[in-house]
Order: sequence, then structure tokens, then C-alpha cells
Amino acid sequence: MLLGCHLSIGKGFSSAIDEAESLGMNAMQIFSHNASSWRMKEITGEVVSSFRERLARSSVEYIVIHTMYLLNLASPDDALYERSINALIEEIRRAGLLGINHIVTHIGAHKGSGVEAGIARVTCALDRVLSSDVAREYPNVQVLLEDTAGAGTTMGTTFSEIGAIIDGLTDSHRVSVCLDTCHAFAAGYELRTPAGLKETLDEFDREIGLSRLKLIHLNDSKFPLGSRRDRHAHIGDGKIGISGISLVVNHPSLRDLPFILETPKEMDGKGGADRVNLVQVRSLRGEKEEL
Ligand SMILES: [Zn+2]
Ligand SMILES: [Zn+2]
Repeated sequence: MLLGCHLSIGKGFSSAIDEAESLGMNAMQIFSHNASSWRMKEITGEVVSSFRERLARSSVEYIVIHTMYLLNLASPDDALYERSINALIEEIRRAGLLGINHIVTHIGAHKGSGVEAGIARVTCALDRVLSSDVAREYPNVQVLLEDTAGAGTTMGTTFSEIGAIIDGLTDSHRVSVCLDTCHAFAAGYELRTPAGLKETLDEFDREIGLSRLKLIHLNDSKFPLGSRRDRHAHIGDGKIGISGISLVVNHPSLRDLPFILETPKEMDGKGGADRVNLVQVRSLRGEKEEL
């Protein structure tokens, strides 16, 4: 299975691949810069070539860049909106430079302007991003929209909202969806029973189309179904629980997708949690290899 974790680039892009390999991952997610800052340090030609060279001799088959947390493609504030569009274009450029073909982004929040206005705003933003010179220069980079738990006025809490955004695009062939299990569960989508998961995926298929689902953020949830609170828990240690996570990773419509864990890095006050969570997921798939 394609499985890995969100990893830090604190020691450099290539070091993240070292870490992925040391934990037996064949998939990984990174930020391309500090996700809480608008400042994006230029990626030098030297960094690009060493990363590409490292990746070419790596067991990592799938990498996705998560965009910064600050961008808001639904913002009614023009300055923030323009800044967000430019930031997403820049993320595409950075991904393209590094040879990474997937970017996952939060959609943003309408901040009281309403869902309809928010959808129009996001659609227009994505149209502009995808028709930009940069997007044309890097045609292999795909943008994945992530579902959200639904705190405040965040968009992407329902599949119908995400579907409406994609339907409104002039050209949607480069846009797909990441399903975060913690967010979906907190937003009220049942995952813990075969019937509940079927209903959730049927709704996804109706509103968005399952062919658009390209990535799973596999996280357990600290808070209950429909709580609208976004707190990730270790695999099997939250309200989705081990049987729910097992249904997700073994579902015929999901099992061939890449799974990225964004679970806490610490367990019982110590680091090393990624290793434990990865082993847990592999065992649910009947893959027993030791890390
Ligand atoms: Zn996210
Ligand atoms: Zn996520």
C-alpha cells in the first residue's frame, strides 16, 4: 500500500526523504516552507537538483505538498484573497521545481459572506491559479482540495460544497480531492460501520465523483462524530477507532489510494509515534513487515 506521514523539512527537503525511508514509507507529505508564514524562502537550483537526485534513488513513490495554513481562497477581503491566489501559484511553482505532482490545500473560510459567495470566490480563484503562466509551465501539478471539520465558516465541510466548487470551474481536469478522515468524521460523516462508510462514499460519489478522490489523510479523531472540532488522534486511539480505520484502509474504493498520516508526533510524552501508527495501519492491511 502507498503509506506515509507528514514529515518536517526542517533539515532540508532531501532529509525528509531520508526520514521517510528510515520508517519504511513509500509515500510522504511535506510543507514547501514554514506553513504559518507568508514568506517563502526561494528554493535554489542546488536544492532542486539534490532533491531530484535523492528522490530518483528513493523508495518513495508518492509525495504531496501541503499548502500553507494562511491562504484563504474564499476570503471576502480582497487583499487576503489576492495574496492567497499568488501563494497557491507559488506553491505550484515550488512543486513543479521539485518534481512533485500533487498539492493539497485547505479551501478557506467565507467569513460571513455566505456559502454561495464563498463558492463563487473559490471557483474564480482556482480558475485564475490554473490559467496562470506558472500553472501552464508545470502542467503535471495537480491541486487537491481537502475537506474540513467545519469550525467557523470554513468551506469544504460538505461534499456538496466541494462538488459545487469543482463544477463551477472553467477547466477542472487538474483539480481533485483529498479526504481527511478526522475532518470528515468531525463534519458528521460516519466511517465506523460498513453501512455508514458506504453511505458516506455514496454521497461523495454523488456530489463529487469517486474518480476525483486521489488522497486519504488517515487520522483518527479526538472528538466525536459531528463535533466540528479538528483534533487528530493516533490511529485507533480516537473516536473513529481501530475498526473504523480498518474499514477505511481496506475499502475496495479506497485501498489503492495513497494514505498520509497527520497523527501527533508524540505518544505517551515521547517521540517515535509515526513508527507505531505506521505499523498499526500496515497490520490492518495484513502487511506484517517489521520496520
Ligand atoms: Zn490539511
Ligand atoms: Zn488533513
